[in-house]
Amino acid sequence: MTTPETSLDFGTLAEMFTYDHEQVVFCQDKSTGLKAIIAIHDTTLGPALGGTRMWKYASEQEALTDVLRLSRGMTYKSSVAGINLGGGKAVIIGDSKVDKSEALFRRFGKFVDSLGGKYITAEDVGISPKDIEQVQMETDHVTGVPEYLGGSGDPSPVTAYGVYMGMKAATKKAYGSDSLTGKKVMVQGAGSVGYHLVKLLSKEGAVISISDIYEPSIKRVLKDFKAEVVPVNDVYKEEMDIYAPCALGATLNDDTLKQLKCSIIAGGSNNQLAVETIHGEAVKKAGMLYAPDYVINSGGIINCYWELQGYNREAALSQTEKIFDTTTEIFNKSENENIPTFLAANKLAEERILAIGKIKTSF
Ligand code: NAD
Repeated sequence: MTTPETSLDFGTLAEMFTYDHEQVVFCQDKSTGLKAIIAIHDTTLGPALGGTRMWKYASEQEALTDVLRLSRGMTYKSSVAGINLGGGKAVIIGDSKVDKSEALFRRFGKFVDSLGGKYITAEDVGISPKDIEQVQMETDHVTGVPEYLGGSGDPSPVTAYGVYMGMKAATKKAYGSDSLTGKKVMVQGAGSVGYHLVKLLSKEGAVISISDIYEPSIKRVLKDFKAEVVPVNDVYKEEMDIYAPCALGATLNDDTLKQLKCSIIAGGSNNQLAVETIHGEAVKKAGMLYAPDYVINSGGIINCYWELQGYNREAALSQTEKIFDTTTEIFNKSENENIPTFLAANKLAEERILAIGKIKTSF
């Protein structure tokens, strides 16, 4: 018997230990071509929730590293959001343009189901509502489901509301009032979250600039709201009070931080700091108030959480509104302990997990 080639080595378990994961499940089904990894990071607060991403990873190792990192991020996001969910994530290794089939997603659904609710899945990059519909044929442990299937539908308006709340908390901290009237806000990425953020900002009389690589996204915003359009390469040179990244991650890096001048960074995209420790410290040194991304973009997960309880939009929005208070608490903690805001957020997340973990030991 020959040993088939794999890009995984015995570092896999070590990597699991490094990130402190509870369980990692490797799923394979030759007939459908399914290769997936489900990572359950921490279930102290509740079942591990996190979307499934379908991506053409260069190697299994790359897929593993991604799912471990993302699932850990979900633990922190749910903890700070104050919801009773742990962190999980799944990745399907494959090209979302050519490798999809009903059988593949139903098989994946069976793997999710086999975990008995310990992991709850949702949509992420490369996954469409149709794919989720097929996963849902085999398991009830799915959330963020389209409205026509009885779910809560597109979470981006709720995400944008949370970003807006975080931005207002930052404005209060930096300027003494939470009013965004007259503040110059640069919204980078005018997609789902960007559009709804612009809607809220324009209602409050902010001076809005937008930038996007995709013309239809820009046109959609300009059809409904007043905004200046900034060329993609000029974003960081712009004069602005608030930079709101709502497109890609890692836009706070060595290059951009040489150019960026603003009072506040508050946007919806994930993983904005290219290297958390380096660039989190750099924005602090530069005197820019950074509202940690996973704190202020948690409206989407809050919405999913409320879908699991039998959807109540009022409750979802009311909990999302609390992002204002949480963000304020993080700014105060950062100031009192003289640490970057991302670190203050991480500490807050860890403290809640520790405290709730302790009460769970009693009957
Ligand atoms: P989207 O795909 O609807 O919109 C993203 C927009 O960014 C698109 O219009 C795209 O053309 C544009 N874009 C891509 N590269 C760009 C660039 N270099 N410069 C300017 N624009 C660029 O996605 P979305 O749902 O609005 O999500 C935006 C970000 O927020 C993502 O990072 C996502 O992970 C994060 N997020 C979204 C939600 C949600 O509820 N949708 C929740 C949490 C986090």
